Amino acid sequence: MKETIKKAQTKRYKHLNKKCFQCQKDILVKYNTGTNEYIKKNDWEYWTENEKNKGKYLCNSCILNLYYEKPKEYLKAVENKKKRRILTTYIYNKTIN
Ligand SMILES: [Zn+2]
Repeated sequence: MKETIKKAQTKRYKHLNKKCFQCQKDILVKYNTGTNEYIKKNDWEYWTENEKNKGKYLCNSCILNLYYEKPKEYLKAVENKKKRRILTTYIYNKTIN
């Protein structure tokens, strides 16, 4: 019982509140207690592997907008093919929607 409460608290406090660097919309970056990592789906540095994007978060709508409206920019930004595949999967299975 004690353990359960502790876990719940840890979970709550670990979520991060970020703002989209493009549209300033609030993004809740959830903590995955299974992997002990923050969910990377809005972490722009993670996708682009670009130092310049360190600490930048992109909201779902801006990711979708980039993907559908500016495919050239998207391909240029997300160079890692493996990550591009993962990101595309997220878009198609509506993890990013
Ligand atoms: Zn945005």
